Amino acid sequence: MTRALFIIFALLFRCSAEPTALQAKPPEIQDVFETLSKGKFVFDGEQQIVITYYGVSTLLIDDGETQIMVDGFFTRPPLSSLALGKIEPDTELLKRVVAKEALDRLAAIVVAHSHHDHALDSAPLAELTGALLIGSSSTLKMGEGWGLEKEKLLFAPDAWACRCGQFKLKMIPSAHFDTGRLGSWFLGIGKQLESPIQFPAGIRDFKEGGSFSIVIEHPSITLLVHASASFIPSALEGVEADVVFLGIGGLGRSDHDYISEYLDEVVEKTRPELVVPIHWDPMTKRPGTATNNPIVDDIRVTAAAMVKYFSDRTTRLKVIIPKNVE
Ligand SMILES: [Zn+2]
Repeated sequence: MTRALFIIFALLFRCSAEPTALQAKPPEIQDVFETLSKGKFVFDGEQQIVITYYGVSTLLIDDGETQIMVDGFFTRPPLSSLALGKIEPDTELLKRVVAKEALDRLAAIVVAHSHHDHALDSAPLAELTGALLIGSSSTLKMGEGWGLEKEKLLFAPDAWACRCGQFKLKMIPSAHFDTGRLGSWFLGIGKQLESPIQFPAGIRDFKEGGSFSIVIEHPSITLLVHASASFIPSALEGVEADVVFLGIGGLGRSDHDYISEYLDEVVEKTRPELVVPIHWDPMTKRPGTATNNPIVDDIRVTAAAMVKYFSDRTTRLKVIIPKNVE
């Protein structure tokens, strides 16, 4: 792994790629919002790594030979379906995603936890692409329910899960963001799926299944995807990453002390050069819009807390928020 990365942020939406130098100063709040239009990252190391963000915490990592996906959430059921009805993967949409994003070298889909906004489309995408499905026993139950073959399901918490091409994947137990007592009950936090999930399913049919940080090592880069804005103290001790994809969902309702503690544990300890906040967009709408509703979450509060945190440090760390790819 080289820590001396040359980083280029490529713009999608038919824009041409423009190299942007690393910022030598701490991020300012304006910078955070100006970068909302950036959705694809190209890292020119020993081997070029391209990472595409699709909203919430779905990411595609591609070294030109092998593709790895984190989570799998493209269907984005609307609030009305979540609140009143049943949801299921939109398989026609997923076929279009597979074709449009050229998912023809997808070796593995690794799922951070089993709620619908992370795992809903992971099993059908594994079926469509032939990829391994890696995750908790609940995630694998979802795969089983979808009819994936047993050899395509890999239970992997706290071990190097697989060597996929030049990628090595590891899942480290973490914690889910605190949604309060009622939220925990409703969302099955701390619970596992007892039996394979059947679609269409109600939102309460999903269970958290445990939350995980995902380390993705490659000779050219080391990535940490930390999807849910909580932590187990010292769980990331010894982990160093070039880039941290940092879940910030719900942080806008947390106090600054909690945000600082979270950043200490997940960012300060892992010493990245780049932090990319993820899980900040409303999961029931088209991706790309930030949540600025103080009752649900407020990305402005999170951004201000992060700017203060990083401004207190003399780091060259860069923070950007990508817009997903449409
Ligand atoms: Zn969740």
